[in-house]
Amino acid sequence: MGDRTCVLVSACLLGENCKYNGGNNYNQQVIDFVSDKEVIAVCPEVAGGLPVPRKPVELSGGHVRDAEGKVYDKPFQTGIAHTLACLEGKTIDLAILQSRSPSCGVNQIYDGSFSGRKTAGSGLFAQKLKDLGYKVLDAEDMNQMKGK
Ligand code: SF4
Repeated sequence: MGDRTCVLVSACLLGENCKYNGGNNYNQQVIDFVSDKEVIAVCPEVAGGLPVPRKPVELSGGHVRDAEGKVYDKPFQTGIAHTLACLEGKTIDLAILQSRSPSCGVNQIYDGSFSGRKTAGSGLFAQKLKDLGYKVLDAEDMNQMKGK
């Protein structure tokens, strides 16, 4: 705790195998950046009770769906609520989140067609953090932070 900068990070960026396909999104640049900071690793999808591996999902029309149309809104909302509850009382200086995820994407997400097409927008967790006033950074924008 103390005076150290506290950074919330998508756990998959730190190498945790919590991604839908059982892998991770290890990001050395993120890891280097947070090495001297307090880190809180979160995976809102796992926090919502979703398994690893799990079906890939995308956002469409405000709902979370897999390619067969099954809706996952409930575990996503549960995961967001659990994650926020864990953050209560903590001062988070910055959140660094995984790009294009339906949970964590900050700048862009897949468009719901499962065709690889992207659209401007945020994942549900990232949007919630933004709405609550957190400073949120997409992992792909880390180069802005160089030298910090
Ligand atoms: S929900 Fe976020 S932290 Fe979890 S695997 Fe997806 S991008 Fe990573």
